[in-house]
Amino acid sequence: MNNTSCPLCGQSNSCEAERSDAVSDCWCFHLPIPAELRSRIPDAHRGACICQNCVQQYWNNKE
Ligand SMILES: [Zn+2]
Repeated sequence: MNNTSCPLCGQSNSCEAERSDAVSDCWCFHLPIPAELRSRIPDAHRGACICQNCVQQYWNNKE
């Protein structure tokens, strides 16, 4: 697994910041990543981006 895969579900995280060096915009700049989700990332995959799906799901469950 590399940093282009979500550490929680294994799907592509579609993070522009991981894909190119000259990133100007990415969904992850606009959607807050909950600290609770970050704490679920296994130590081996710290630094990898969570995918939009998992973040969205988290916020949906909150409501
Ligand atoms: Zn995910």
